[in-house]
Amino acid sequence: MRLFATTIATETNTFSPMPTSLDAYRDCVFLRPGEHPDDTPLMCTAPLWVARKRAKKEGFTLIEGSCFAASPAGTTNRADYEFMRDEILGQLKAALPVDGVLLGLHGAMVAHGYDDVEGDIIERVRALVGSKTVIGVELDPHCHLTLKRVRLADVIVLYKEFPHTDVVERAEDVLDIVLKTLRGQAKPVMSLYDCRQIQSYPTTLPLMRAFVDRMKAMEGKDGILSISIGHCFPYADVPELGGRILVVMDKDKAKGDALATRIGEEFVSMRGKTMPEYLRIDDGISTALAFNDMPVVMADPADNAGGGAPSDNTTILRRLIEREAQEAVLGPLWDPIAVRLCFDAGLGAEFPLRFGGKIGPTSGAPIDAKVTVIGLKRDCWQSFGPTQVPLGDCAAIRVGGVEIVLISNRTQALGLELFTNLGIDPTKKKMVVVKSTNHFMAAFGPIAKKVIYIDSDGPLSRDYRKIPYTRVTRPIWPLDEKTSPGLIL
Ligand SMILES: [Zn+2]
Repeated sequence: MRLFATTIATETNTFSPMPTSLDAYRDCVFLRPGEHPDDTPLMCTAPLWVARKRAKKEGFTLIEGSCFAASPAGTTNRADYEFMRDEILGQLKAALPVDGVLLGLHGAMVAHGYDDVEGDIIERVRALVGSKTVIGVELDPHCHLTLKRVRLADVIVLYKEFPHTDVVERAEDVLDIVLKTLRGQAKPVMSLYDCRQIQSYPTTLPLMRAFVDRMKAMEGKDGILSISIGHCFPYADVPELGGRILVVMDKDKAKGDALATRIGEEFVSMRGKTMPEYLRIDDGISTALAFNDMPVVMADPADNAGGGAPSDNTTILRRLIEREAQEAVLGPLWDPIAVRLCFDAGLGAEFPLRFGGKIGPTSGAPIDAKVTVIGLKRDCWQSFGPTQVPLGDCAAIRVGGVEIVLISNRTQALGLELFTNLGIDPTKKKMVVVKSTNHFMAAFGPIAKKVIYIDSDGPLSRDYRKIPYTRVTRPIWPLDEKTSPGLIL
């Protein structure tokens, strides 16, 4: 038995002012066959990593393709996408015949000329391998679950957790179902229900937590191979954006259709009930100041690099400084130039620095202040579950009672090391402001005495009605009140 595995992945915010080129993949994951590290999966490479671990025991040969992944940002350069895609397809062609293909994709990648990158890849893989080879795909729930993908793949499984702490487990699921199919123990059929809605679904909140736990309990019984909840990725102007439910059933399509419909209808009934409360900036700061335990963790989802934002919006920071907040720390603020200037000034130096507010109108104005350099570190990192996320060179500065961590590799707040590697202990702070939507909860949830979500003026508005879509298929909630959800495959 021969399996081929590969990754090409990013989450594309088509409204972002930062285009994504080959350099962004080189900065992140750019590995040729055999170069993938053995100790940990990287962004979206879990199917390859899991297959490598299990190949010998399960009795199959794994042929590894290249792995390419970039941090979320704007649309990928067309020639660069085609270069990566064609390299992978060339490797697959050379590996033929194969019994199975494992694709570790994100699901919300857009390249110039390609609204549905993952659909394009699956279509070209199918054309090469033919109808008998089993194609298994792992996606992030913040994806566009397009008809093309579901028609052309055999098995698609999405992560269930948000924060995404189950990437490896879901890759195991994909491999399990692909192997069962190849051994004649299962015949997967997929059903897709379109909920016609845009919303966010952190699984750390009770309603969504219970929903996901129930889906998990159903799997493995009554022929149910897998149930995936497509959250959607709201910051992309593509026709098939929206929440969808995907059921993978063994053989019985009618039964899969009925289940997808039942779950889909329930998901529709959860509209408006799965997001946390978002406070305005000054209300959030006042609430944190009045709270008499510490730390209070305040999230700034609207400037989350994980959704393609620049992560250099200064509005919350400016208010913290103006209100003379004490024992406050904020991070990460992406500003490689300011980091360079801090290294030039040196540890302990006090000097006038302009930082933040650079990339676009939604970044706000830069801050000019006399800062003290309180931490400097080359090649910093933070952890996210089992993976290490590079931060590049980092500097920590202090303005009054507010400390700020400046980073060079644009990414969201994930691990406590974002602060501790620069000598700042977030558990000893009154207020910890993190730029992240919900992934921060995995590490910061356990230390937080209170969590506050803020709706700032960053680019990822929490009010989806404010996003200037022109190509999203309507009607869709909450842009439209009346919608027609239903089974589409
Ligand atoms: Zn995601």
